[in-house]
Amino acid sequence: MSKPIITCTEVHEFEYEIRDHNPVDFIYEPGSVYIGRGTALRIHTDIGVSGEYVTRGLAGAPMLSTTAPWVVGLNALEREKIYQSLKLWLKGRAWQGIGLIDIALWDLAGKYYDAPIYELLGGYRKKLPCYASTHVGDYIKGGLNSPEAFADFAEQCLKMGYPAFKIHEWRDVTPKQGIATIHAVGKRVGGKMDLMSDPANSYNTFADAVKVGRACDEEGFFWYEDPYMDCGHSQFAHRKLRQLIKTPLLLTEHVTSLEPKVDFVLADATDFLRGDPNDGGITGIMKLAGAAEALGIDLELHAAGPAHRQCMAAIRNSNYYEMFPVHPKLKTLSYSPPVYKSNYWDGLDAIDKDGCVTVPEGPGLGVEYDWDFIMKHRTGGAEYKEGSAIKNPRFGRIK
Ligand SMILES: [Mg+2]
Repeated sequence: MSKPIITCTEVHEFEYEIRDHNPVDFIYEPGSVYIGRGTALRIHTDIGVSGEYVTRGLAGAPMLSTTAPWVVGLNALEREKIYQSLKLWLKGRAWQGIGLIDIALWDLAGKYYDAPIYELLGGYRKKLPCYASTHVGDYIKGGLNSPEAFADFAEQCLKMGYPAFKIHEWRDVTPKQGIATIHAVGKRVGGKMDLMSDPANSYNTFADAVKVGRACDEEGFFWYEDPYMDCGHSQFAHRKLRQLIKTPLLLTEHVTSLEPKVDFVLADATDFLRGDPNDGGITGIMKLAGAAEALGIDLELHAAGPAHRQCMAAIRNSNYYEMFPVHPKLKTLSYSPPVYKSNYWDGLDAIDKDGCVTVPEGPGLGVEYDWDFIMKHRTGGAEYKEGSAIKNPRFGRIK
């Protein structure tokens, strides 16, 4: 079969309703309706095979106005060459610019070879153990409004089959509140499921991070993630934190690109690596998984989605799929756009009795997108064809 040359890329921005969820603070907000924004990317080739990827947020969209025209005319199967060219071109913003294009190219390759992506990557497993990753704490009646409410929800998730549970503390959490929550959840379900704390950088000081970390130690937590307001960037501080507490640290969610993430490990500043296919693409995430494996440690993927499942199904050294954000009052991930025509979904009830989800088995990402919905709710975007491709003034494409 001849090689597929990219003839056209389409970028579509669209809107959808988000109900009962505040997408700014990631809290349960009953009765609320917010406008969510999504990005849909489609890559067409001269042999009729296309690749697609749709994700929430417009974060990747500004970068797509640079990268989507640039890939027109290239061989769609040369993902590594495209990854390396974009890396060279985009420098510090490389992974943010590579992610969405790379995932759509992997979807295209899967359709070209008629195989799911995880098989092309070298399949390792089909069932992915999940952790219930909560909404951020709220102050709503019946919500995640107290340490006991988090403990009740952890117990509910344990009964459902979840093998692990992660607390996202309140945005304005105090160390006292956080410590009480860690103890409440630890006393209720500790020893029966793996427990994690992710304050998402909410504590003000390093000292707060140490105090709360010691509570994680007492309850035998599985990991402690991004505790305070350095926003997960200081290698020095997290090496110090590792010296002061026993609980393994999970950092690098907010560190972008391969080398800086690995440098974090080499500085003794984290125990786990963290990555998201939306940032770096499937190509970048598999490089990160290999780097973690070479160092003898694990890579934990951030958030949920078909690209995440395809990657995790091809990685040995990864423990859990993040079912995020879940809440006792919400069945679906209400912040995600309703774009799947196929029987694919993430949400509190998406797991089987063993607490696992499966990897989609269709070609590429293994999901069918609802393009009628996307186009009906389209708010902007662009289509790029040969002739509209911009040339990089400094480097050009790698030959
Ligand atoms: Mg996190």
